[in-house]
Amino acid sequence: MLPEHMARRILHRLLPCSWCGDNILLPLEKLAQAFASLEVRTTDREPIAAVCHRCKQVRNYDLANSDLSHTWGPAAYLDAFSGWMFIESLKCADHTCKARLPLFAIWDPAISAEQRTAYANTWKWDGLKCQDGHPIVEPE
Ligand SMILES: [Zn+2]
Ligand SMILES: [Zn+2]
Repeated sequence: MLPEHMARRILHRLLPCSWCGDNILLPLEKLAQAFASLEVRTTDREPIAAVCHRCKQVRNYDLANSDLSHTWGPAAYLDAFSGWMFIESLKCADHTCKARLPLFAIWDPAISAEQRTAYANTWKWDGLKCQDGHPIVEPE
């Protein structure tokens, strides 16, 4: 039997923020949940958007691109859940485009709706694109 502290370890996909280099620690379970919700499953690319907790930039990442690997490696077991959550699937600004981009951010379930809105209002949406290169704008 595993010691109790081992049982709590959670596998995360690790990325550096492409703007400031801060840690983006995505739990594999949340990634699987996000990709399962998408209608179109790509095999060679795993595009996502993530909001850096430090610089608040909303940026595109392709998890299939190993150049994006964190200095710790592409994935690691962490002792606790990092707080990164799947927020929603972003729609493309082109209404004929079916691409959906799963958005991840650090999201504390304990905070109030007002605090969540205030936090989401600090995010910097600029240059986000769908898999087909169309712009994605901030959801209402
Ligand atoms: Zn950053
Ligand atoms: Zn598109």
